[in-house]
Amino acid sequence: MEPWTIQKLLGWVTEYFTGKGIDAPRLSAEWLLCYVLGAKRIELYTQFNKAVGPEHLSQLHELVKRAAAHEPIAYITGKKEFYSIEFEITKDCLIPRPETELLVERAIELLRTRTGEQFVCDLCTGSGCIAVAIARNFAGCRIVATDISDAALAIAEKNVAKHGLTNRIKLLQGDLFAPVIAGLGPAQFDLIVSNPPYVSEPEYEKLAPNVKDFEPKSALTAGKDGLDIIKKIIAETGQHLKPAGTLMFEIGNEQGNAVRNLLETAGYFSDVKIEKDYSNLDRLAIAVTKPAK
Ligand code: GLN
Repeated sequence: MEPWTIQKLLGWVTEYFTGKGIDAPRLSAEWLLCYVLGAKRIELYTQFNKAVGPEHLSQLHELVKRAAAHEPIAYITGKKEFYSIEFEITKDCLIPRPETELLVERAIELLRTRTGEQFVCDLCTGSGCIAVAIARNFAGCRIVATDISDAALAIAEKNVAKHGLTNRIKLLQGDLFAPVIAGLGPAQFDLIVSNPPYVSEPEYEKLAPNVKDFEPKSALTAGKDGLDIIKKIIAETGQHLKPAGTLMFEIGNEQGNAVRNLLETAGYFSDVKIEKDYSNLDRLAIAVTKPAK
């Protein structure tokens, strides 16, 4: 029998994933093969005709079976790229989404317009991807990142260490601002960012199996209308933002009007904006507090 070359395997796995309705079938096949071979993606292409040995084949076979049952590739390989940075990922944290890069981009743009050291707070940090991406791209900031889940914070800790940011990102366990205590560090921030859980109960039931059956529910859902956590964040932000400070958080694609309304009626914001993502869906809420008198 002809040997299984990298090229042939990629072709076969891609076709198999396509038939199973797996997202990005070719890319998913490449990631799994890279993981099994311990190779970079480019190396698959420079060694296209290389035969893959029986041990690697049987390992790949097992992983392909898991992925075909909708287990996310990021959980299988334990890695995910976000904002061109590699993150460690486990089933205890949400897998970073490309649409969340918009929040990071706006946060970095904003920080670059300000002077002096900037204090940032990242709520519901999960894998720590937002805090790490901001800190890596804006040297003049310190970040406090909180999460209610100890298990998620353990991954965030790995990611913060992996990217050499231990002395700029402080991780704290607790519900939203609960662990942010004046005297133990900054309690008022120039910028507060978050990708909170915002999926409504009915939406959750309709999520694709790769999300619903594998990602932590507590990182996704926030009550009947998905606004429970967002409401809490808005209510507590007043005490934790400096004058002319900014609150920026991700929202669901149908939450723009409701969130605008919540921000406008909170009383301490002078400017509220809802921004759409690259798919033209509501994705980001940005609100600025009134300047100092
Ligand atoms: N956008 C994510 C999803 O639909 C939800 C992320 C979140 O709740 N923060 O799966």
